[in-house]
Amino acid sequence: MSSVTEIFGSMVFNDSVMKERLPKGTYTALQKTIKDGKLLDIEVATVVANAMKDWAIEKGATHFTHWFQPMTGVTAEKHDSFISPTSEGKIIMEFSGKELVRGEPDASSFPSGGLRATFEARGYTAWDPTSYAFIKDKILCIPTAFCSYGGEALDKKTPLLRSMQAINIQALRVLKLFGNEDVTSVKTTVGPEQEYFLIDKDFYEKRPDLIYTGRTLFGSRPPKGQELDDHYFGIIKPRVQEFMDDLNNELWKLGILAKTEHNEVAPAQHELAPIFSTTNIATDHNQLTMEMMQKVAKRHNLVCLLHEKPFAGVNGSGKHNNWSISTNTGVNLLEPGETPYENAQFLLFLCAVIKAVDDYQEILRVSVASAGNDHRLGANEAPPAVISIFLGDELTEILNAIESGKAYDGREKEQMKIGVDVLPHFPKDTTDRNRTSPFAFTGNKFEFRMPGSSLSIAGPNFVINTAVAEVLKQFADELENAEDFTASLNNLIKRTISEHKRIIFNGNGYDDAWIMEALKRGLPNLKTTPDCMPSFISEKSIKLFTSHNVLTETEMKSRYEIVMENYVKVLNIEALTMLDMAKKDIMPAVSAYSKALADTAIAKKAVVASVDCSTYETETLKNLARGAANLYNKTAELEKALIDAKEHSDVTELAVYYKDHVIPAMNDMRIAADELETITAKAYWPYPSYGDLLFSVK
Ligand code: ADP
Ligand code: MG
Repeated sequence: MSSVTEIFGSMVFNDSVMKERLPKGTYTALQKTIKDGKLLDIEVATVVANAMKDWAIEKGATHFTHWFQPMTGVTAEKHDSFISPTSEGKIIMEFSGKELVRGEPDASSFPSGGLRATFEARGYTAWDPTSYAFIKDKILCIPTAFCSYGGEALDKKTPLLRSMQAINIQALRVLKLFGNEDVTSVKTTVGPEQEYFLIDKDFYEKRPDLIYTGRTLFGSRPPKGQELDDHYFGIIKPRVQEFMDDLNNELWKLGILAKTEHNEVAPAQHELAPIFSTTNIATDHNQLTMEMMQKVAKRHNLVCLLHEKPFAGVNGSGKHNNWSISTNTGVNLLEPGETPYENAQFLLFLCAVIKAVDDYQEILRVSVASAGNDHRLGANEAPPAVISIFLGDELTEILNAIESGKAYDGREKEQMKIGVDVLPHFPKDTTDRNRTSPFAFTGNKFEFRMPGSSLSIAGPNFVINTAVAEVLKQFADELENAEDFTASLNNLIKRTISEHKRIIFNGNGYDDAWIMEALKRGLPNLKTTPDCMPSFISEKSIKLFTSHNVLTETEMKSRYEIVMENYVKVLNIEALTMLDMAKKDIMPAVSAYSKALADTAIAKKAVVASVDCSTYETETLKNLARGAANLYNKTAELEKALIDAKEHSDVTELAVYYKDHVIPAMNDMRIAADELETITAKAYWPYPSYGDLLFSVK
């Protein structure tokens, strides 16, 4: 096998390949496009396309595709081969500049939230040269943004790219004020830690709930769950290790910086973290990582579950979004500095994030909303639906000292002036690892822990980027007009701390007491998708995204519809799957087992005439009969709830209805079925148990 350094990026049309294969002038022009967003002219594109094609063919590719990220949350591709007929009845391999730059997939079946009428069903895809092209399964994939004919964003990538521009503009304004003349661009960086479950494919295939919905809709608790914490960071089982090796290899080929892997808390749960990169690339790479995880698992007769809550009673899977901002000169703006001057700049950016999270907490909650993640938030070892920031005691004390104008840590100063007087030297990376906070400062970055495992990180990141851009704008407006920069800066930081400290919470976020305290502080607890989504189309939210050109009002309303519709559809599929399983498998199985018990009881009585010779059979039979009647009734109730849903046509009303009526009916039905599982003989129960699913991979 080749070495990792040889494999790494071997399937990527990256900078070194470009340098090697493009004429100098073309390379320079393309770099201008990549670095400064300059428009690429068609001649340059033609040369690039040709070089890309030759490179791809050498690597065995036969087709190309515009690879994009529609609102389904998964990636989409439509393959075109390079072949082009010649007059002699032969073919040549061709790929034009036009084909590279723009595609026109007939994309009428992607969710558009009413943005695209069917008569203008075509969308178009536009090359995103900031993310490298790559080869996957013999297909040259061109990362693209996806828009409607009218130019409205129909994908996850477009608002993300726009938000990166927004934060670039505002952060540069602030940096100028601190005299950073050499900084010409600012980008946000992300390292997403991806959690997932791995289960045996043979068991998976026997579970309609996993097949249709990605999660178990039934299943009584096994005798052992995660209570011993013996899985976390435990020795990786050989079959899982083989999967991980294979996966790393595939990811490295695609230039994805897969770095750490370990077992997570729940049995059968694991995590993969890459080294961070620019947000746009991190997003593309995370989508590819999820795709590869699922593909590679199958090769090992495993199935990778990316659902946020595949199993009740054990931890769900999240995706920790580590986020920071850096300059093109290589400075991480959330890294506490060595000098007071650097620290003042650090504090201002820190305050910008604090204020952004406080001001736009509802929208951050929206950015992680889905039917699946609603199960996870606030449950086993997942952050609650309340947003708060963890800063650690040290940094919190510093902020408190600044706010009160008191000395920090026994210093002699009466008044602490930022940027002039010596600020305490921040110890780096000593933040205690509070793992219960939804938004934790971890030394030189923030870790947003609310995103669910299957979510595209484009959503949360365009929200964080835009919210921080807005606050930086307000800061720049104030400071640019200040007569005395230092005094204004001082005042601004102080004021921001005192106005937004309610969002800072360093305690245990999993504690019920915190939910009470949060309520007192006026922090919203938006538990479900229908609860939080209206804030996305509030006046404040529309103002935020439209003023920074990240989304238009129409685009926002369409996204609102898409999320709500998806919520209803997911729940509807789950409810129908439950009904199907109960009626076709569970109740018949219980009946069959009941009959076997009854037959045995009769036979026993015929042979052994004693009164209690069939206590076990008759008592179990009674319980089964009661349980089956209960499940039957709950099934009827869920069916009725689904029929009544038809009375609502408005998507908002419908989503609220599903939350209030369908989910409770599903929960009741599950309780009834799980109870039956505990008293039905294993030979009769139609599905692999939680124990089989969670503990079988060796
Ligand atoms: P932990 O599990 O303790 O949170 P990990 O090492 O698993 O730590 O994950 C930390 C993640 O944060 C990694 O993906 C890492 O690359 C990323 N990261 C580190 N520095 C930055 C940064 N400046 N910007 C964005 N992400 C970062
Ligand atoms: Mg982490």
